[in-house]
Formats: sequence, structure tokens, C-alpha cells
Amino acid sequence: MDSITLQRIEKLHPSVRDEVKKIIAECDEALTGRAKVRITQGLRTFDEQNELYAQGRTKPGKKVTNAKGGQSIHNYGFAVDICLSIDGKTANWGTTKDWDNDKVADWYECVKIFARHGWDWGGNWKTFKDLPHFEKKNSNNKPYNWRELLQNKKDSSGYVIL
Ligand SMILES: [Zn+2]
Repeated sequence: MDSITLQRIEKLHPSVRDEVKKIIAECDEALTGRAKVRITQGLRTFDEQNELYAQGRTKPGKKVTNAKGGQSIHNYGFAVDICLSIDGKTANWGTTKDWDNDKVADWYECVKIFARHGWDWGGNWKTFKDLPHFEKKNSNNKPYNWRELLQNKKDSSGYVIL
């Protein structure tokens, strides 16, 4: 996997770093054509989240999120956004393209691998589909609730203690 992806994994919540490395490695192994997986975003600080929230509200641009600081699972390091990297050069968000000609869309191959590891896909959400987004489910196989995570104590590096 590319070094930017690896750097982003190293900032995720410590409890999921090895798992995400494994998931991405499995995706890259499954994708035997021109596409590989690139993580475009992992951990997002509360400040970064508030900046995003301001877009289209108090700052110019289009609205990109309904989550303020603390309200996104990215803020706790349990979520990643991906794209496909074509020939190691071009970012691509096509979810139906079959770059390795195995009759299964590359994106969907990744969805299945993430699911096998107990990660939820934003493409399954009913109200707002977030196709590049994957997040870790909790030990009850349910999505994490940010209201609960917000209450958790943090370690010295700022990660919530589970
Ligand atoms: Zn996301």
C-alpha cells in the first residue's frame, strides 16, 4: 500500500490500526488490475470537523457534512474514506468499475472485505449514502454512537479509551 495510506492508518485509533492494514492489504490483493486502495481520510480532529461543518453555513462553499466536531466517527479514529488509485496515479471514486475484469466491481470487492472484518459501509445508510466511507462497528456489531464516544475518557494521545 502507498505511504500516504500507511501514514493515515497510523493516526487511526490504536485499536484498529493493524486491522485496517490487514483490510487494505486484502483489498489490494483482491484487486488484481489497475486499481489499488488509497485512504483519503482517517482521523479528523474536532477542529477540522468544525471547519468542514462551517462550509456552506458560515463559510462559502457547498455543505459537505451535517456533523459538528465530535459528531463524526472520524473524530475518534474509527472511520476511513477511500478512493481507488489507478496505475498509482489517478484518484477514482467510480463504485461500479471493474478494473481487474473479474466481473465484480472493484469497489464492491472492498465493501465485502471491510464487511467481513466487521466494518460498516456508508453505502448501506438509508438517509445519506456516503459511498467512500467505512467505519468500525463496536463489540455488539452495531455502529459506534458518537454521543457515547464523546463521554469516554481519553488517553494521553487523545484517543478514547474503550
Ligand atoms: Zn467518512
